Amino acid sequence: MLKVHDIMKNYENKQVLKGVSFHLKKGESFGLLGPNGAGKSTLIGIMTGLIRATSGTVTIGGLDLTKETKQAQQLIGIVPQEIALYLDLTAKENLMFWGKMYGLKGKELKNRVQETLELIGLDNRSNDKVNVFSGGMKRRVNIGCAILHRPKLLIMDEPTVGIDPQSRNHILETVKTLNSEGMTIIYISHYMEEVEYLCQRVAIMDQGSFIAIGNQKELSELVGKKREMIFTIKCEQGQNDIDRMCQYIHQYDPLKDIVVQENQIKLFDEHPQQLLSDLIQGMTELNVQMMSAEIVEPNLENIFLYLTSKKLRD
Ligand code: ADP
Repeated sequence: MLKVHDIMKNYENKQVLKGVSFHLKKGESFGLLGPNGAGKSTLIGIMTGLIRATSGTVTIGGLDLTKETKQAQQLIGIVPQEIALYLDLTAKENLMFWGKMYGLKGKELKNRVQETLELIGLDNRSNDKVNVFSGGMKRRVNIGCAILHRPKLLIMDEPTVGIDPQSRNHILETVKTLNSEGMTIIYISHYMEEVEYLCQRVAIMDQGSFIAIGNQKELSELVGKKREMIFTIKCEQGQNDIDRMCQYIHQYDPLKDIVVQENQIKLFDEHPQQLLSDLIQGMTELNVQMMSAEIVEPNLENIFLYLTSKKLRD
């Protein structure tokens, strides 16, 4: 369905994409994760023909995006981060407008609009103006606009940011349905649990490159025997307790990577049980009060942390 080959993008002398390659089969659901500035939006811009790559090729459904741009773009639906709707028009009128833009007309247009309203769960609100809708409902209309022409590949850029749980669940279920009907999905999100739920394969992107790609089992193997340990500290003396605890850990292993997030210390170790008892002893010696200690099996959130040592939800 999609072949992205060795895409590079430079802005002046800054290399924003450093040779990104991947293939998607028809019907795959693919998650794209990366901290801010990793190059995700630039890659999407290039895959949709809105940004020109410095080098490399994109083929969609066998069509070369630079040579057969219009035909290739017909195969894509994009749900952008920003809501792109006419607020003074009703949900139905917005969909009719986009349907006409895609070249639909007559009965086919009416049917598609009705089907789409049902799919996004807004058929009972179809004649309400979009400006009275909640953020989540507006996003659902946005998704409707992107799928009216039945694209083969749907690219969704953080479709659930800042919306109510009900709309969020509705969006996730809509994506599942579309995917089960054969639509190929690229899903970009900071919410790991959504990507875990929806995506068969995931790429982790950092500083313009894919640093890992695979299904969740393959990504788990990158962590090997190491397990994430999370210590939550009761910071009686502010940051001081955290600093003293980090120093204590570094006495054991000066090179240990430690990630501090608010009152939590996170680290990876091959022998977590042993380290856990050593560190509990250390906390007693230092008179640092611990609220909890956990050993966490690999999941997308800690695999990402392990690979990038960055907090994704920054
Ligand atoms: P992400 O979507 O992962 O947050 P972006 O693709 O938006 O990342 O940005 C990747 C890098 O490219 C950032 O360092 C950003 O500042 C830079 N960048 C993006 N667009 C431009 C542009 N038009 N001109 C110069 N630099 C840009």
